[in-house]
Amino acid sequence: MTEQPHRFEEETGNTELWTTIFADGHPDLTKQHRLHKRLPRDPRCRLCLVPFEGLGGWYMRRKGKGRSSRNEHYCAACDGFLETFPGGAEVEMSVLYVDIRNSTGYADAESPEHVSARINSFLDRAVARITDHDGFIMAFYGDCVVAVWPPGFVGPGHAQKALGAARALLADPMFRKGSNAAIPVGIGVHTGPVYISTVEAARGLFRDVSIFGKSVNVTARLASEAAPFTCLVSESVAGSELGETPEQSYDLKGLSEPVRAYSLN
Ligand SMILES: [Zn+2]
Repeated sequence: MTEQPHRFEEETGNTELWTTIFADGHPDLTKQHRLHKRLPRDPRCRLCLVPFEGLGGWYMRRKGKGRSSRNEHYCAACDGFLETFPGGAEVEMSVLYVDIRNSTGYADAESPEHVSARINSFLDRAVARITDHDGFIMAFYGDCVVAVWPPGFVGPGHAQKALGAARALLADPMFRKGSNAAIPVGIGVHTGPVYISTVEAARGLFRDVSIFGKSVNVTARLASEAAPFTCLVSESVAGSELGETPEQSYDLKGLSEPVRAYSLN
């Protein structure tokens, strides 16, 4: 007989609960994802996807699922969950990094207003392409967006979804070589064990969720190794899908062994 899973937002938080959420899928949270995704509109809670804006946002605020007043990336309920049940688990999942190339050179040549507008366009568009493919935004800092596809959220086809997001980013006119306005990005995608856990943010004022481990470093390094307007996909993601694309070995900074990857553009 299988044990009843913990109730999301209600019971003792521990590794088992975190494994349930991110590896197997928690029935309560999965149900919330299905419902919340249909309600307009972005931005949303990073964990349960409840909308913060539009009619859906207004409606869910009345149900106590408005944006947390101290933790802008989560709704009040999920913020409460992270506070009550801090923890973490190691789960095999897919990770994507996308960042802007040569942003320092650009910042030197352009006005601060222009640089800020460009970064905002990049963030909006990159987040849209990633969430179109069911990716969960982990973080954005500076000119970089980090997303994950935990199997507990998106099912066993997480690598294909991450690859779909990378292809959608490369196909987006904003990130395609050619026009003067195009923003040169580098993308990395990798699949492997990731430690996903709560971390204290803003000097302990609230908790956030973050990812750790070698797989995260590999993804970040692949993104910085990728030429402008290209994506490096490690062989752990690609399987047989990229059979036509030549595979190459990359020595990545800070990693003892080379990583085999495919370059997409
Ligand atoms: Zn939430």
